[in-house]
Amino acid sequence: MASVACSLVLGRGFSCANTLTRPPIACLRLSRAVSCKMRNRHLSSQQKRQQFKRAPTEQLSLNMNAQSHDNIGCEAEEASSAGASHSSQITIPSNDAESDSNSETDVAVSSFEETNMIENNDEQEHPSIRLEDLIAMIRNAEKNILLLNQARVYALEELDKILSEKEALQAEINNLEMKLAETDARIKVAAQEKINVELLENQLKKLKTEISSRNSIEEGKHGTLDDESPLVLELNDLRKENALLKDDIQMLKLKVADVSKTEERLPSLEKRHSLLEASLMELQSQLSNAQDNVSRLASLRYECKALSDKVENLQALFNDASIVMDQPSLGLQQYHELQKKVDKIEALVTEATVSKFPSENFQHYDETLREKIELSEKRLWESDQEIHSQIQLFQESVREFHDSLERLKEESKKRSQELSLENLPQEFWSRLLLIIDGWLLEKKISVNDAKMLREMTWKKDARIRDAYLASRSKSEHEKLATFLKLTYSRTSPGMHIIHIAAEMAPVAKVGGLGDVISGLGKALQRKGHMVEIVLPKYDCMQYDLIADMKALDVVVESYFDGRLFSNKIWVGTIEGLPVYFIEPHHPAKFFWRGKYYGEHDDFKRFSFFSRAAVELLYQAGKKPDIIHCHDWQTAFVAPLYWDIYAAKGFNSARICFTCHNFEYQGTAPASELVSCGLDVHQLNRPDRMQDHSAQDKVNAVKGAIVFSNIVTTVSPTYAQEVRTIEGGRGLHETLKSHSKKFVGILNGIDTDAWNPSTDNYISVQYSADDLQGKAENKDAIRKRLKLSRSEGSQPLVGCITRLVPQKGVHLIRHAIYCALELGGQFVLLGSSPVPHIQREFEDIANHFQSHSHIRLLLKYDDALSHLIYAASDMFIIPSMFEPCGLTQMIAMRYGSVPIVRKTGGLNDSVFDVDDNTIPEQYQNGFTFVAPDEQGLSSAMERAFQHYIRSPESWQQLVQKDMRLDFSWDSSASQYEELYERSVARARAAARV
Ligand code: ADP
Repeated sequence: MASVACSLVLGRGFSCANTLTRPPIACLRLSRAVSCKMRNRHLSSQQKRQQFKRAPTEQLSLNMNAQSHDNIGCEAEEASSAGASHSSQITIPSNDAESDSNSETDVAVSSFEETNMIENNDEQEHPSIRLEDLIAMIRNAEKNILLLNQARVYALEELDKILSEKEALQAEINNLEMKLAETDARIKVAAQEKINVELLENQLKKLKTEISSRNSIEEGKHGTLDDESPLVLELNDLRKENALLKDDIQMLKLKVADVSKTEERLPSLEKRHSLLEASLMELQSQLSNAQDNVSRLASLRYECKALSDKVENLQALFNDASIVMDQPSLGLQQYHELQKKVDKIEALVTEATVSKFPSENFQHYDETLREKIELSEKRLWESDQEIHSQIQLFQESVREFHDSLERLKEESKKRSQELSLENLPQEFWSRLLLIIDGWLLEKKISVNDAKMLREMTWKKDARIRDAYLASRSKSEHEKLATFLKLTYSRTSPGMHIIHIAAEMAPVAKVGGLGDVISGLGKALQRKGHMVEIVLPKYDCMQYDLIADMKALDVVVESYFDGRLFSNKIWVGTIEGLPVYFIEPHHPAKFFWRGKYYGEHDDFKRFSFFSRAAVELLYQAGKKPDIIHCHDWQTAFVAPLYWDIYAAKGFNSARICFTCHNFEYQGTAPASELVSCGLDVHQLNRPDRMQDHSAQDKVNAVKGAIVFSNIVTTVSPTYAQEVRTIEGGRGLHETLKSHSKKFVGILNGIDTDAWNPSTDNYISVQYSADDLQGKAENKDAIRKRLKLSRSEGSQPLVGCITRLVPQKGVHLIRHAIYCALELGGQFVLLGSSPVPHIQREFEDIANHFQSHSHIRLLLKYDDALSHLIYAASDMFIIPSMFEPCGLTQMIAMRYGSVPIVRKTGGLNDSVFDVDDNTIPEQYQNGFTFVAPDEQGLSSAMERAFQHYIRSPESWQQLVQKDMRLDFSWDSSASQYEELYERSVARARAAARV
């Protein structure tokens, strides 16, 4: 009841103040009395006066009653104080707030005055009222005044609210009025226009009637017009004008023809330009090779000097030996001459014996001859002995010569093994020490590095000598990098490399990118590096292929759209590689969409992931040497790292960015870049992230090219192609201006995952040495897909691909019909993210649904892909462009001969069997150049002829292809070298 009464007086909300403060009942009563007085303030002074004249006794009795009757409240008082007090209930008008607050003290004063008046009256009329009661009443009154003030403040607030609501309403009304006025104006304009239209229509009608009447007059007058008549003159003028116009048109046509000629010449000029660029690149690489050779020459010069000394020694020895050799040959000559003489004498003796001269002379002669013979024989024996001893001597010296030669060889080998370190004068080592000390004093290297390099010099370590010789002719910066590489390789067994990617085979794979992450990761791990991977945690991953997956007991908060979001971190291993999975707790459920890509907010999804991934590394306190990001999805990492995280001290790493396909660049309105925390004003510039197509668009791949230390793509040919206007898709200029850090490295394939001799997905395992299994796989797939099995030798053509324009879908379609025409079978495994292509192939698939030679399987099926590689004899890849392409390499590993268009990575891995300019050992498939049906048909025809006419040669080709090495080893070595060079450069730069 009390609250009702109060709310009646004070309006909404006072009951709250009432319940909050809970004043004693007596106070309440007084407060009601005071409230009523308050109300009276709003009455005119005359009314007030009248009220006072009438009410003192009533009020007093009320106040007195209040002490004895708890439940009698204001309601009763209001009822007794008649209409005046009743009307005052409306009170506290909203626009009265100011006067109200000014009169705050007046209320207290007047209430005190009133109380005094009551007191005086009481003293006269009710002397029994005690002073204490009055004081208590005054206190109560004061408390009530306080309550009233609170109520007043609240009421004022309410008033404010009402005022602002009123203002908003007023604004709305104004708005509506403006709109009304606008509509009125429009209606007026429309009405005016309508009138105009009507006027115009009338005029048109008039004109029409005039024209028709003129026509009829002219028809009537026709033939009678003379040359001077104004109409004829006008006609002539028009004719002249017409002729002039015709001339103009003719001239314009000529100009257009000129322009089109120039346009025709443009592509050839562009082609020539790109050719020139390619040859320039080649020359540059030759130049760098030549520079390498020159530096190598310097070290060779040292070795050469040592060797020439040795050769001189050998020459002297050889001369000695030849002198020794000459002596026995002289002896031999003498021996032969003596032998001849002896032979002659013997012949004479025989002759003499035969003729038997009886005379004494002859006897004497005979004796002397005998003596001579004996003498000669003696001499002969002596010379024989001499020759023997000479020969022995000679043999000994030859042996000696051989020994010393061997010794020298050994020595030279040893010396070359020891890198002729002793030959280097002490001066060399001292100079090295001084260089190192100089760097230390100039603060170009750290104390530790200097200590390590000094120690190596002191111990005459061959590596430091090589480093010196290799970098002698280079700049100091490069010299430092080479030397620091030594300290690096001594202190660290391997690098710490972190890949941040959107895919990883086999758990989350859409295309080649997935294969690269696991293949390159494993190869680098095998080389002794510490490799880690960061992936989004997709709901659609193949979780059964992740070992020991578990959620970590941490939450990583990452920035997005102006606030922090939590990320749950999971870990697990995939084929031996440690992987971190990021699960964002964002309401958009970024990776909870049942698919990897193709969502309307892909730019948001992956910019969020990139930010969260770098944040994870930062918060985990990692100090990687290399952060390797891939494709547009994680391209944000590069600008984020250098713009935000390096400033926070997270700067140990170099950034490597690999673009697997320049067709996909991650473009979006510039404003979207802000979400992940990047500074759009700084980055939306033509030399940074601004897309070439529009000034308000940003390009993630461009950002990564600009901000990364190393930029790679997936084959050397593609690296050249993207430097051209057609290939670069708007990024050719950016790539050119960053060409020093841009290279093409051909991908490898995971030879463990793709191995026909261990593959569990295929029906029968086989190898290049035993191809029986291949035939059995062919039979198995024919059976599985219900294809004809009547002709075992009928060639089977396979094709496994994403069905997108890049892959030459029109040529894939042509290949199906071509294979059929040539008497083969065709199996296609593929799916398309492009609806109309998917529909087109669905139609073809339906058409050949129960055909005995053609089968189209429009889906993604990893297991089936293995079987198709194993079963097919030929493999078709007619791409319009192909950054690298893995399917040709996988096909060859499974003995399926590739038929490909010469572009990108296909050009770097498939070499035509019929191309005589290519050494035979490299010929491994069939290629064509023109991206049209004819080109493809002729390559397929050649392949079919080869297969049918020369089965043995075909088998050799299959075996050769299977033995080719497409493993990641050599590609991983190239990445390793790039990483190492970049890390060494960074360390050198850090000290300059
Ligand atoms: P891209 O990355 O452009 O798609 P690549 O030739 O580099 O082309 O890599 C394609 C990879 O994806 C290969 O490993 C291939 O076997 C696989 N692949 C493509 N389409 C399918 C499919 N429909 N089913 C199974 N695997 C497929």
